[in-house]
Amino acid sequence: MSDLTLSDLNSGMCRWPFGNPEDKEFHFCGDLCDHSLPYCPTHMVKAQAPSRKSKS
Ligand SMILES: [Zn+2]
Repeated sequence: MSDLTLSDLNSGMCRWPFGNPEDKEFHFCGDLCDHSLPYCPTHMVKAQAPSRKSKS
C-alpha cells in the first residue's frame, strides 16, 4: 500500500482519500471493492454514515 494516485486506481479499487490532496502523503485506500462501488466495504460505511452533527 503506497503512493496510489487516482490514475492508479482501477474499477474495483477503493478511492477513499487519506490526508490532504496537497500533501505529499496524500493517497487513496486502494483496497479491493465491488466494481459497482467507489469504496471498499469499510469506507462505504463511512461514506454512507449520516452526519451526527446536522441533526439532533
Ligand atoms: Zn477503502
